[in-house]
Amino acid sequence: MDTAIYDVNNLTDEMSERAEVYGEEEARRAVAAALCAVEEAARVIRRGGLVAFPTETVYGLGADAFNEAAVRKIYAAKGRPSDNPMIVHVARASDIGALAAALTPDAVRLIESFWPGPLTLVLRKRAEVPLAVTGGLDTVAVRMPDDPVALALIRRAETPLAAPSANISGRPSPTTAAHVLQDLAGRVDAILAGRPCRIGIESTVLDLSEGAPVILRPGFVTADHIAALLGKPVGTDSALRARDGSADAAAAPKAPGMKYRHYAPKAEMMVLEGRRDRVKSEMERLKILNERLGRRVGTLLFEETAFLEAAHRLFAELRALDDAGVDLIIAGALGTDDGLGFAVMNRMMKAAGYHVIRV
Ligand code: AMP
Ligand code: MG
Repeated sequence: MDTAIYDVNNLTDEMSERAEVYGEEEARRAVAAALCAVEEAARVIRRGGLVAFPTETVYGLGADAFNEAAVRKIYAAKGRPSDNPMIVHVARASDIGALAAALTPDAVRLIESFWPGPLTLVLRKRAEVPLAVTGGLDTVAVRMPDDPVALALIRRAETPLAAPSANISGRPSPTTAAHVLQDLAGRVDAILAGRPCRIGIESTVLDLSEGAPVILRPGFVTADHIAALLGKPVGTDSALRARDGSADAAAAPKAPGMKYRHYAPKAEMMVLEGRRDRVKSEMERLKILNERLGRRVGTLLFEETAFLEAAHRLFAELRALDDAGVDLIIAGALGTDDGLGFAVMNRMMKAAGYHVIRV
């Protein structure tokens, strides 16, 4: 399949402001060209095709959420298990009415505070939402992304987009257009190549379908943020707390996608956990030891509390290490008391297959 690649780098809030508010001719032309590209991509969606596009979290691979045949193509392009439901992306909060059967007061408050943004809400679905989107569940996951390209695409497609991350299933989520090209060129109809994603890890998934709010996947919006807004405790899916990722029957994650070995680099990976000075010296020792055995070793160590930076760079670093052809990745753990640290470590532990060494 030929994949059309469109440059939408210039479709940013800043460029739009320069074009509209200050009337700068150059900005106006650049924004118009990018919007033309988005219009082409929207046409692809309306015809039932697949388009990869940037969001503030990671790049998504979108199809018309109400076109079952189009949605099925996503599973095929990604090699994604078909019991793994997708998040439906809307351009206006009011569009959720076409997807969710009923909005609880909690949902309304969360939408008012966090949309557009990296918070996905799981609600009872309307009958019109194809089961192919929800992996056969009677709930639907919805969010409104905070990205001008994503919003323009959804608006122009005139339909919500079912969109999982735009990577081959099991690989680290794509946070740049180059990552998407690497995985999906030749497998999708079009790619909107924009800027690197601002946040870098996937949205928080919050289940509201059974009354009490429960986090199914941690992300940039944390349990503390949500609890503070709603004035009530927010639960965390017990499978997320299992340190070894074990999915025994009682701890099977409620978000089906969380049970897969996700985010995985090709290299073997281990995470060192403990005091920083010990992590650093053990990292060095293991690196030398493994190199003596003829293995190529890459290391990954973020500042202990630089959670934003770690979220932004984690997936890109894992891909870069794979591209460099390392056999072993040795990473240092971050603290998990902070909600964003917890979200980053959820991805890091999965990438490492829960291979943790205490030092
Ligand atoms: P992705 O689209 O790749 O970012 O993954 C979406 C995540 O949301 C996966 O972990 C899914 O299992 C989860 N998810 C999507 N829809 C639902 C739903 N209706 N109920 C529970 N989890 C969901
Ligand atoms: Mg994904």
